[in-house]
Amino acid sequence: AAEARRKIVAGNWKMNKTVPEALALVRELRGLVSALGDKVELVIAPPFVALHPVAKAIEDSNLKLAAQNCHWEASGAFTGEVAAPMLKEVGCAYVIVGHSERRQFFGETDETVNKRSQAVLKAGMVPIICVGETLAEREANRTLEVVERQVKGALAGFSAADVARFVLAYEPVWAIGTGRTATSAQAQEVHAAIRSQLARLYDGAAAGQVRIQYGGSVKPDNAAELLGQPDVDGALVGGASLKAGDFAAIVKAG
Ligand code: PGA
Repeated sequence: AAEARRKIVAGNWKMNKTVPEALALVRELRGLVSALGDKVELVIAPPFVALHPVAKAIEDSNLKLAAQNCHWEASGAFTGEVAAPMLKEVGCAYVIVGHSERRQFFGETDETVNKRSQAVLKAGMVPIICVGETLAEREANRTLEVVERQVKGALAGFSAADVARFVLAYEPVWAIGTGRTATSAQAQEVHAAIRSQLARLYDGAAAGQVRIQYGGSVKPDNAAELLGQPDVDGALVGGASLKAGDFAAIVKAG
């Protein structure tokens, strides 16, 4: 039942905030969300260089840390890359994998999303796996086919017990950074389809435990409606996560 899944709201800061700016944002956010306790799971994903200082700044708070990507190898000659064990060591609990910007601009595929997710799990963290259709795919009535292919590819080789702990994020590409959010009915339709796909691929228990976030222009004024859908278990927030007041308002809507 939906009641059994604790909501999870994550802020994807993307390529924003220097270290001093990140620390200032965290300081403000900590104050705004401290009274909420553990009702909603709260995650922030700053850029790599800010992870270590932010980890220190959120000690003894109800905020958890995520990275925005990682490589699938644990170490080695991969200039410019960051490995999952390094992220675990600085205090990350989650890693966002397969964000549409990475698929679109950095050659991410279902196969590399799968490999990165394996590395995240092996390092003792949980992947937040992003899926979602483009506008052209939605208009061609291919939304569910595309999303189901991405989910199946990302989760290949994992056990039901692994998958039960994962977080998925449904992010329609046309809704990201555009101010054009999916309607709550559009979000619910895809979330429910993903959950029934997981029941077919794994089992009903795993499908019932997986948390599926919605992402794409989530704002304080649409969050309650989206988060009120039975299969929407949280939000992955981009632009609005850069303002402490907006992020806190979204969290409170959950
Ligand atoms: P947005 O980004 O909230 O700015 O649309 C969401 C995301 O890309 O995760």
